[in-house]
Parts: sequence; structure tokens; C-alpha cells
Amino acid sequence: MSHLLFNDSFINGEFYSTDKNFSVDDPATQQSIIMVSDVDDIGVHKAINTAHDAFIKLKLTNATTRSNVLMRWYDLVMQNKQTLAELMTKEQGKPLKEALGEVDYGAAFIKWYAEQAKRSYGDVIPATDNNHRLTSFKQPVGVVAGITPWNFPIAMVTRKVAPAYAAGCSFVLKPSEHTPLCALALAYLADQAGFEKGAFNVLLSEDAPRVGKILTESNIVRKFTFTGSTGVGKQLLTQCASTVKRTSMELGGNAPFIIFDNADLDEAVTGLMGAKFRNGGQTCVAANRIFVQRSILDQVVDKLAKKVATLKVGNGFGENTDIGPLIYPKAKQKVQELVADAKAKGAIQISDDVQLVDSFQAPLILTGVNPKMDIYHQEVFGPVVSIIAFDEEAEVLALANDVPYGLAAYFYSQNIKQIYRVSEALEYGMVGINEGLISNPVAPFGGVKQSGLGREGGYQGLDEYLEEKYVCIKL
Ligand code: ADP
Repeated sequence: MSHLLFNDSFINGEFYSTDKNFSVDDPATQQSIIMVSDVDDIGVHKAINTAHDAFIKLKLTNATTRSNVLMRWYDLVMQNKQTLAELMTKEQGKPLKEALGEVDYGAAFIKWYAEQAKRSYGDVIPATDNNHRLTSFKQPVGVVAGITPWNFPIAMVTRKVAPAYAAGCSFVLKPSEHTPLCALALAYLADQAGFEKGAFNVLLSEDAPRVGKILTESNIVRKFTFTGSTGVGKQLLTQCASTVKRTSMELGGNAPFIIFDNADLDEAVTGLMGAKFRNGGQTCVAANRIFVQRSILDQVVDKLAKKVATLKVGNGFGENTDIGPLIYPKAKQKVQELVADAKAKGAIQISDDVQLVDSFQAPLILTGVNPKMDIYHQEVFGPVVSIIAFDEEAEVLALANDVPYGLAAYFYSQNIKQIYRVSEALEYGMVGINEGLISNPVAPFGGVKQSGLGREGGYQGLDEYLEEKYVCIKL
């Protein structure tokens, strides 16, 4: 199918196979795309050890050299954009136009960190004694291990591996068992671009807890970075405690999307379509609870229903597809359970009840959602709009903040005082105001509360892979 289709783990610049295999399936057809090998414990340890050898070499390189390698990687990813996007649609299901967009977005992290590699500045600190000279500078943290999810098979990898390499760290990655093919293609291209052997290893396994345990408990691995569900993140944090690793955690969210009565309603509905339906709603920053001020509720629901009715669900390779399949049948079952629970507790479904085959889920709108319903508290991770009416700003702020998560929040308002007030009061790591798509390589992405630790993107994303060293010299 493609010159970037591989089926073995990638360790020390070579493919590593085992006798045990598992299938990577196309979520649109439920057919196997390819059988891939499941890495054994020996392979996991080999990857960690070769990453350590690579780190010794990387420590001797300078930032400009690493920057040049990253730029070559960026160029190769962009030259292979179509192939990578097709691979992504095949293994992940998202519409090809979104996959093409993700290659651009994922590659932009590589380019940004190629630039940032050269800007890892230190400090000269005014001394408290005339005989002292105080400085601090940054050094790579060491071998990094990472585990990534299936919803952004390229961007979730590049936003970790590019800053790690820019900082001078080597990487051992275990991508999601559902989407390992893009990760392998990225590692192969990084090797072609001049990454040191062992600087970027990819381990394939459908036994994530086994591989995760070795990675988190290794003394050689000094930093662990994870994107995925809050439950798994908590477990991995506990495992990392035994070796006191640096950690970054991008975990779940429960994003509020608030439309105030003074908003431009057409813009708000357009913004909501993006914040809700990108990747079929399968993103951690997807709008999950839509709060609409009561006086504009009918207008918003009307406008939204018209747009939702135009959405085409189908195979991601279909020319007009807006929403692909959900990642696997269990995901659709979960969405349907949440919808059934909400309806049983009084939610009203505005859109038609369309039942589709396999993992395809028709988009739908629910009104009258309230905190008694499971859909209010859990990420729906599917194309369902849950609408909650509110009367006052203070009331909606209390509702928006009354969850254990704090990743992304959105609101639409044209009142400047309200814009400042609400953006400061929202207990979230990211706030989109009159904008539904906020993720950008140049800005810090991350959550507060149980949505995680650390930031990806921006200059902050590089610091996650650097240690600060303070040096005191007495003259
Ligand atoms: P999602 O619901 O998005 O699949 P998960 O948190 O289950 O979120 O998965 C994210 C990543 O974490 C995947 O690569 C998966 O294989 C991995 N994973 C799941 N459970 C564990 C675990 N117990 N230990 C280590 N990794 C895990």
C-alpha cells in the first residue's frame, strides 16, 4: 500500500520482529490492514538501552546540528504528506482532509522545535557576594519514554519527540495499539533525516500495561510523557513515583462551550461545529457541555440543527465525508449508552434518530442536559452535542468549573469586560474566546486539575525535556 507501511517495532534504527503478532484494523471496514509484531520484554529493554547509548552521543551534539536534523525530518514529513495522511485515514478513520491537516499540524511542531532548539537560554544571576559568579543553564533530562493515544496518530507523537530531540534527549515511544503505523512511518523518516541510531525507538504492543510498567520503572528512563485517559495517567504517575521521574501528563477534559446572549450567534455556531465535530468528537479538547444563555437558546438550537443536518458520515476516504467511523465498536456503544442515559433522565433529542452500521455514529443534538446525566460528567468522545440552558454569568461559571477536569474551555461574547472576567475565572489550562480551534504549536497546550501536568507546544514545551543546572563559582 505504501513505502511507509511497516509492521515491526523500530529499535536502534532497525526493525525488530517477534513471533507474536496482532492486527491493526481499519475502523471503517473493521478489516485487518496488517499484522504487526508485539514487542517482547527483551525488545523493550533493548530500546531503553539503545536510547541510553544514543543519549550519550546526543549530549555531545550542539543545538544547531539538532535543529538541522529536525528541519530535514520536517521536510521529509511534508514531502510524504499524502502518503502519511492516507495511512492515518486507514488506521484511524478520520476524513482524509482532516488527516492532511493533521500532517501539517504535526509537522509544524517539528519545525517549531527545530527553531526553538537554538533558544534554550540560561541565566546570569546577580550574586549576593562580590566573589561569586552565579549562572544557571539547561541540560537535557536524559532518556524519555512516551505513550500516545490513537486520536492524533502523528501530532501526538511529534509534539513529544520533536522537543525531546531539540533538547538533546533520546526517545522510546509506545504508540496506541490502534494506530502504530503512523508512528513507525515517522520514526523511519526521522532515521532518514539523520537521527542518531536509537534516538527514536517505537515499540508496538497490544499489551500496554506490560510495556508501560517496564518503561515507567526503568532507572535509565528519566522522563515519562503520556497523553491519554485520566485513569491510565494516574496509574502511570504512581508507577513513575518509584524512580522519581519527571512527568508530563495530557489527560482527559470535559470542555465547557459557553454562548452568551451578546455573542455573534453565527460565529458561535460555526465555532461550535469545529470544537465539537473535529475527528468525530474524539478529541480531549472537544466541546463536551454546551451552555447557552436561555434568551438565545431557540435561535442557537435552530442554527445548529441546520448545520448538523448537512454533516456526512462515512468512510474517511469518501470525498464529502465530514465524520468518519468511531475508533472501534466499543466506542460507539459507549456513546449510545451515554445518550440513552441522558434521554432516560429527560434530555430531548432534536435531530433524527439515525442508526448507522458498524462503528459509524450519526451526529445528534440533545437539549435539556443536566448534571444528573452521565453525559454531563464524562467525555462523550463522539458526535453528540449536549446543550444546557443557563440564565446568569455567575451560574454558568460555577457549572463550568464544577468538574475535576480543566483542559480547554470556550466562550462566545462581544462584551470586553465579560471577556476578561470569564477568561480569568475559568479554571482551565486553555481558553478559546470567539474561537473553537485553539491548538497551535507556538502556544502552550495543557491542563490544570485532573487534566494533567506540563505543557506541549510553545517555548514551554521544550522546558519539559530540560533540567536546570545552577553553577556557583567563587573567584
Ligand atoms: P484512550 O481511551 O484514548 O485509548 P487510554 O488512556 O486507554 O486512552 O490509552 C492511551 C494510551 O495508553 C494507549 O497507547 C494505550 O495503549 C496506553 N495504555 C492503556 N492502558 C495502559 C496501562 N495500563 N499502562 C500503560 N499504557 C496504557
